[in-house]
Amino acid sequence: MVNIFKIFVFAFSISLFANDLDFSLFKKGDNSDFTMLIIGGIQGDEPGGFNSANFIATKYEITKGNVWVVPNLNVKSIIANSRGIYGDMNRKFLHIDKSDPEYKIIRRIKSIILDKKVDVVLNLHDGSGFYRDTKIDDLKNPKRWGQCTIIDQKNLDGVKFGNLEEIANRVVKKVNNNLYDKNHQFHLKNTNTLTDDKEMEKALTYFVIKNSKPAFAIEASKTLPTNLRVFYHLNAIEEYMNIFGVKFNRNFDLTPKNIATLLYKDTYLNIFDSKVIFDLSNIKKYLKYVPLKSDKKLKFKSNNPLVNVVNGGSFYRVYIGNILVTELYPQYFSYDYSINSILVKVDGKEKSVKFGEILKVKDNFLVKSKDGYRVNIIGFTKRGLKNEANIKISKRNFIKRFSIDKSSNIYRVEVYRGDKFSGMFLVDFGG
Ligand SMILES: [Zn+2]
Repeated sequence: MVNIFKIFVFAFSISLFANDLDFSLFKKGDNSDFTMLIIGGIQGDEPGGFNSANFIATKYEITKGNVWVVPNLNVKSIIANSRGIYGDMNRKFLHIDKSDPEYKIIRRIKSIILDKKVDVVLNLHDGSGFYRDTKIDDLKNPKRWGQCTIIDQKNLDGVKFGNLEEIANRVVKKVNNNLYDKNHQFHLKNTNTLTDDKEMEKALTYFVIKNSKPAFAIEASKTLPTNLRVFYHLNAIEEYMNIFGVKFNRNFDLTPKNIATLLYKDTYLNIFDSKVIFDLSNIKKYLKYVPLKSDKKLKFKSNNPLVNVVNGGSFYRVYIGNILVTELYPQYFSYDYSINSILVKVDGKEKSVKFGEILKVKDNFLVKSKDGYRVNIIGFTKRGLKNEANIKISKRNFIKRFSIDKSSNIYRVEVYRGDKFSGMFLVDFGG
């Protein structure tokens, strides 16, 4: 159990992921013999589901048992904010044509599901309205899918945790103990797939059931904002973990407000192996003169697996999940690889700053001059000056419209050698 009053200290190293339109798989835990697989993003317009899976993947520590997480199964549809750009991926588990563009994805996720180590599977969705077993109104009725946990049948005989209905009922009860609003009540929905619902036979969870593993779906409501959907998903997932004996830590209290803050916080885009860095959490709608490498496909990494960069022709679109956060307009350069850091005096103290770093500055900084290199501080100008090294610079010396963030706290410092780009770092006056 998590004690929410205790602050957990994690050794969070920032790991970067290369996102190449293929889904990510995170393996967390203690390598013991129980593993639950959590899948988000099977449909691209369900941010509650894929952001929740991403929370588990990047913000939870698993201390007992194992949790494998796929936060972004349908990457391309997530970027497009579409249920499925090649049709509904959650109807391709009974049969799929070899010619289907999603054939490889389905084959890969099936092999992960069938991995001997995987014991149970959770599939995360956002559904319309509010599921109720009797009709209350247009938004609350048996045809709606929001705010429920779903099973395909009551029991899966002869399998540990095969008492699907009992487990799901426990989860429903737990979620209902912690409602943000009483109208958000959770329910159990049994699709009785084998007897009543031919359509659901094609879905992921039934593929799991047919292979004798327990499966559950969780549906938050599309009527709710994303942070509330994530709130309910995480409440449900945590109760499933409790039931399965999986133990975890998180270093935040599970409240809708905290989730709203954490959704996009500390999200970085690292381009061409730290030559270029951006903090995406509060980034402006577009950035100009981004020094990109001429004639090379843009190579990027992020600490958030939901970050993607899409070539838009003369510019690049940057997404977190299905949110377009910024557009990058390039200026092309050859890259110089002779140095990967530069000396900077920060608030009076000299330190070596690596390209790709975000340097916190309280009052001022000064980039030490280096023979053969030119410093360009974007948003700072002094008449007749080409090299902006050896000048003490404070926040007030910047022209605000050159900041990369909406709060005018973060600015770019770029280093050049002749006409080649050597690298950049960011100065952050945000405290
Ligand atoms: Zn869905």
